[in-house]
Amino acid sequence: MNATPTLSPDRAVTARVRLLPVIGTVAPEQLAASIDHILNFRAFRLLRIFTQREVVGVKPCLNRPIRSLDYVAPVMEMLGRRGATPVVCDTTDRYRDVNRNGINCMEELAAGLADRGTPMVILDGIRGEHELLVRGTNGQPDAHIAGEVASLGGAVVISCAQHDPLAGLSGAVVNLGVGLASKRGKIEHYAMQTPHVHQDKCYACRRCLRHCPVAAIEMGESHVVINSDRCVNCGRCIEVARFGGISYDWDATPEHFRPVVTAHAKAAFDTLKHRVVCLTALNMMPAADGEPQMALLFSRDPVAIDAAAVDLLTENGLMSAGEQELTQAMLEQAEAAGLGHKQYDIERVAF
Ligand code: SF4
Repeated sequence: MNATPTLSPDRAVTARVRLLPVIGTVAPEQLAASIDHILNFRAFRLLRIFTQREVVGVKPCLNRPIRSLDYVAPVMEMLGRRGATPVVCDTTDRYRDVNRNGINCMEELAAGLADRGTPMVILDGIRGEHELLVRGTNGQPDAHIAGEVASLGGAVVISCAQHDPLAGLSGAVVNLGVGLASKRGKIEHYAMQTPHVHQDKCYACRRCLRHCPVAAIEMGESHVVINSDRCVNCGRCIEVARFGGISYDWDATPEHFRPVVTAHAKAAFDTLKHRVVCLTALNMMPAADGEPQMALLFSRDPVAIDAAAVDLLTENGLMSAGEQELTQAMLEQAEAAGLGHKQYDIERVAF
């Protein structure tokens, strides 16, 4: 193995990130073998933190253009060889007008994995309502994370870093924060207010009245009215309202999103007892000879791996100043919340 320090030589070392450059077209078996070596290398303490028979969640993100699912099968296999019990896990999508229940999510995962018989769990249940409330401390907001996160012995979080209008970079912190949130947690990320009634679309069918768990909806003269003081943002009314009579404004700003995503990521990280391994794939600029280039990052620290991703993308001219600024603000908040360290030491690893 060849490990050469590359970036951040003047920074105090507080977190370790390993970088595997992938240049040109590499055979999948060769890539899997390299990832295997890194994840199982004794000194790196990555998959080696997991013990026999421990149930370990493998959390992909389903972003494009690089599909994190490509890395799920090899990671599952490696965990299995270590004697752990790996399970692909995800949560329901109930935000930004995407409305998929747990079964739909499993179907998408199964299709992406070519149905290899891989065990899968939707951690917040079929309707996204199995959740764990984690109270915020030190001024942090409360977090609603998927209930079964507490049943996992740890997790491997596989991210495909990409630009994000609210976070700057969608990487490990966003994958932990949004990706392990319950339906309500996701709503909290993307909507700044409780749902509202569209008077022109509400035909007073009253279904929402029957489904609201806290009786926050009353009948007005010609349409229903939501008492926003009572509403607990569960999102049930928008699912049952006919003709789109109730909806959220997905109006979150970066200033709203940052504390919410960092609180959720920290809540998930703490619930997993910090037994998290992050793998992030980055698409880089093609090499001078036109060969495709990728970088695979590995770390136990979600903040450090995102900080390294930003630096690498910036060095390659793939991040605008605005995106860098947004990401740095999010990582500062994540560091202040105790999720990890912005300062890191990176090793270029080649097997
Ligand atoms: S979001 Fe939930 S609590 Fe709020 S009005 Fe709708 S059903 Fe009731």
